[in-house]
Amino acid sequence: MTELNLNIHAAGIVEEGAFAVLDRVLQSKAAGNDVINLGIGQPDLVPPAHVIEAAIRALRDGPHGYTSSVGIDALREAVAVDVMTRTGASVSRDEVVIVPGGKVTIFLAAMLLGGAGAEILYPDPGFPCYREAIRLSGARAIPYPIHQEKDFAFDAQEVMGLVNANTRLIIVNSPANPTGGVVPRHELDVLAQGLEAHPQVLVLSDEIYSQLVFEDSDFTSLFSHPGLRNRTILLDGWSKTFAMTGWRLGFGVWPLHLIGHVRKLISATHSCVNVAAQMGGLAAITGPRTEIANYRLVLQQRRDALIAALNDIPGVSCRVPGGAFYAFPDVTDTGWPSEALADKLLERAHVAVVPGDSFGANGSGFLRLSYATDQARLLEAVERIKEFLVTFPALGRAGNFL
Ligand code: PLP
Repeated sequence: MTELNLNIHAAGIVEEGAFAVLDRVLQSKAAGNDVINLGIGQPDLVPPAHVIEAAIRALRDGPHGYTSSVGIDALREAVAVDVMTRTGASVSRDEVVIVPGGKVTIFLAAMLLGGAGAEILYPDPGFPCYREAIRLSGARAIPYPIHQEKDFAFDAQEVMGLVNANTRLIIVNSPANPTGGVVPRHELDVLAQGLEAHPQVLVLSDEIYSQLVFEDSDFTSLFSHPGLRNRTILLDGWSKTFAMTGWRLGFGVWPLHLIGHVRKLISATHSCVNVAAQMGGLAAITGPRTEIANYRLVLQQRRDALIAALNDIPGVSCRVPGGAFYAFPDVTDTGWPSEALADKLLERAHVAVVPGDSFGANGSGFLRLSYATDQARLLEAVERIKEFLVTFPALGRAGNFL
């Protein structure tokens, strides 16, 4: 067959590890295995009933046509009010852009600020889509380290050490995927101070887990930081907050001078977001939030039970995450490379986890476990992992099981 000349940036994209694991889980389940899936990152809830009703009403009664490329006015207004209420930062409707999923804001930011010659900084370990979106734009993707010893925060001095005249954007994610880490206020202060000398650099603050923060963590919204507000793009959405991952609905809050460019990019790509999803999103963001508050408490209990159980396994150690629904245990001392361990756990113990390597080089030696799963199943999964490691302790180290 003739070799096709593909766009090298697009052809080099790596598939997100969590989706590759999901495919294997589905195959294993289809083969009759009782798989406990701690791989995929989505809440184990259905969206609130009033949200589903609003979308059904929209499907039945309309509207049915295109909306503005940046979203329905009422929804943009509701997002502005919601962000102001939660972060204290002042936000106008005109700065809000509704997109088909949180991921799309990353893509738009990379397309707009990336390109040949540009450098964009992103967290390692971090959400894999950052690196791929940066590379797709043609920019250089520059990882900055996330430190286990700092409870999975970054060191802002170290990040600033990577900034140069080519740097256009720094991506920050707190609470974070895959670690659940929360960046303390102090690091944001240092970042804001350092960036004063680099007016060309914008920040993309991915706060998609900002409503899943536990009582014992000191989360600060970077978006609300006075030194960063006017140079920050906020990424958030409905996926994790309202258990609406499959609806594909997210939003960005952009510096006003970029909105015209974002509009043009959207009109050249997806045109606008599915209108019924926008109507459901409006009901969610303006409706009661009791379900989220209750869910947060459930997650905190699961987190505590899971971390205690993981730390009980010889060779495994896990920090207590401040938010999201991920545990990121260090499995180096088991002697197993994390990719091989994740692979064998699915094959032999029927427990699906994501190897830390798929979140960047610094994720090597770790596993990501999503605890958005019933607590009894969660603890059963840990028992299976423990049993597996007891049965095959040194084989991984010796390499003869690989
Ligand atoms: N940002 C982070 C850190 C995530 O973990 C995810 C999804 O897992 C997203 C953004 C994208 O969310 P969405 O499913 O709304 O595109």
